[in-house]
Amino acid sequence: MSEKIGIMGGTFDPIHYGHLLAAEECRHRLALDRVVFVPTGTSPHKKNRPVTPPEDRYAMTLLATAGVREFSVSRTELDRGRPSHTVDTLREFLEGGAVPSGLFFITGLDALLSIDTWKDHLLLPDLCTLVTATRPGYSLAGLETLPSAIKRALKVVEIPQFAISSTEIRARAREGRGIRFLVPHLVENYIKCHELYKDSEVLCT
Ligand code: ATP
Ligand code: MG
Repeated sequence: MSEKIGIMGGTFDPIHYGHLLAAEECRHRLALDRVVFVPTGTSPHKKNRPVTPPEDRYAMTLLATAGVREFSVSRTELDRGRPSHTVDTLREFLEGGAVPSGLFFITGLDALLSIDTWKDHLLLPDLCTLVTATRPGYSLAGLETLPSAIKRALKVVEIPQFAISSTEIRARAREGRGIRFLVPHLVENYIKCHELYKDSEVLCT
């Protein structure tokens, strides 16, 4: 049987335990062989604030997943040099030998609820199984409004609720409130050493 691969896309600015928990719970529940984290390059969905340089976000994602045998990080969207789209990333994995029945694209519920703004979203069910992890503040009732092709392709995974976001972590870092235990220790150190999130920003979700 072919390998079952989870793909977890995100800005990861910074990566935090909510991302890691969602990936791990989906891996476990769907019996995935591994999960690949795919940091965005230029994200079409984050136009309202300056995003931390891609290499810093990549480094933090590596630090957070190092030593976890089933987790890895892909540079594919970082190296693409143009806005990242999930449909293109999935096609790359398929060209690399994955099969649609073995690809699982993992998002949190907030991201999934805006899927109808993604490029070629109606093609996604042909390329992978869509997986959404529950997220505090977002109701499963919102799924009702999604196109039926998406709903049919969707698996919902209820995860332990962790009300944490990168937005909150950036705010805490900027204001000198602690971020310990919200991000892996090595990520916390990286943020300190590189003085990330010191400047004010336009808040986003
Ligand atoms: P930001 O606040 O900057 O939007 P974020 O915490 O939402 O950051 P992203 O990089 O935007 O992180 O999210 C990547 C993916 O991880 C998305 O699919 C998002 O829904 C999911 N995700 C992020 N945090 C959580 C969480 N606490 N629980 C479940 N899913 C999450
Ligand atoms: Mg987000």
